[in-house]
Amino acid sequence: MTFEFPPTAYLQTGPSSRLGPIDACIEAEAERLLAGRTRDIRLRGPVMARYQAWSWPRRAKIVRAWMLWVAGLNIFLSVIGLLFVPMFLAFSLVAVGLFVPAANFVVHRLWRRPRGPWIEPLSLVVVTLTTMVVYGIFGALIGGYDQERYLTGALFLATIALVVFDMTLGWSTALGVSALLIFALFQIFNLHVEPTQVFFSIAFFGFGVAATIEARRTATILAHKGFLLTVRDAQHSRALAEANRNLHRLATLDPLTGIANRRSAQDHTDCLWQNDGVDKNQVAVIMADIDHFKRLNDAFGHAAGDACIRQVADAMVASTRRGLDLVSRYGGEEFMVVLTDASAETAMLIAERIRSSVEALEIEAPGVQTGVLTVTLSLGVAMARDDIGAELLGNQADDALYEAKRRGRNRVCRWPIGPALPADRRA
Ligand code: GH3
Ligand code: MG
Ligand code: MG
Repeated sequence: MTFEFPPTAYLQTGPSSRLGPIDACIEAEAERLLAGRTRDIRLRGPVMARYQAWSWPRRAKIVRAWMLWVAGLNIFLSVIGLLFVPMFLAFSLVAVGLFVPAANFVVHRLWRRPRGPWIEPLSLVVVTLTTMVVYGIFGALIGGYDQERYLTGALFLATIALVVFDMTLGWSTALGVSALLIFALFQIFNLHVEPTQVFFSIAFFGFGVAATIEARRTATILAHKGFLLTVRDAQHSRALAEANRNLHRLATLDPLTGIANRRSAQDHTDCLWQNDGVDKNQVAVIMADIDHFKRLNDAFGHAAGDACIRQVADAMVASTRRGLDLVSRYGGEEFMVVLTDASAETAMLIAERIRSSVEALEIEAPGVQTGVLTVTLSLGVAMARDDIGAELLGNQADDALYEAKRRGRNRVCRWPIGPALPADRRA
């Protein structure tokens, strides 16, 4: 069983939001806009560009669905026209049944990928107004009451389009005003309608279009606000993830050396003992303590002592097996190494490797000449068994460490402590 320390899975921030990375300017602008009144929200420059990119999948879905339905509706109406006004068969078939659905299909295809802030709304305005003109002509060809009916139907479609399409105030005003103008022109040239009727119908639909543009403006502002809140949420999530990472680091790592702290070592051994898949006969604990460290501190100062602890920790990590051995700072100048997948021979070999690598260290410390400062390490090794707990194993390794000290330091001793053997001595 191998392990990872620090566990990177825990440090991951979770699924990234659809927003992707956001730079500080956009975050600051989002906060500024959210601090003001909702009705004053105006997205500009890079914030607007990000909104467009963020909202594109949703906008495209709506536009594409709309285009398909309107194309279908036109084909249906062309069939109706064919049945009820057969004298305009060619126009009905070509303009209503073919041209308008084709224009809708073109826009449907155009919206397969983002096309930028001009082409996207322009395509919607052009296709909607084209449909209106076709219906205006169709109505004029039929004449009479039907002319107004077709024209009103087309204006109705344009007004719904205003609500459905998420466009800026400029574009929706352009669409609404142009649709009303087309309506007015066809009405004015309709000889069957009285001038007063023309005036009232234009005024009536004018109010309707104005109200729709205003509703669209409110919907757009709310959509923009939704985007700004998403930016704020993403920022909060990132800050929270960062705080969690810091907390995790504080809770598990030793601040001086950056290796595991005592708590992590204990969690790790608990984990090993709880895992039935771990062969306890292949688990070992090494306790290590820097020899005469107090003297070093007294002679070279506390800062040199700290530098020494750091470099000893690095040497210990370098002498152990990644994913199998966990080196931790147990406290002060004491370290504990938990080994897995290790026979007694391997454990002794690793302990000896640690000892000799520390002995060979030339400690670099502030204000100390290179090569002057060296230290040695005493180590105690204990092998686990199924019938002993982690705590007892630590005590046994500790006993072995004190035996190493007693026998003259800079050596490895193994529990159970027997007479001094070559294996307990320095190589
Ligand atoms: P021995 O060989 O018996 O282990 O002798 P020793 O001097 O190393 O033993 P002792 O436990 O008496 O001294 C340990 C010293 O480590 C005491 C303390 O001032 C020092 N110490 C503990 N933590 C730190 C630390 O974080 N930084 C520094 N610089 N010194 C520390
Ligand atoms: Mg010591
Ligand atoms: Mg000590």
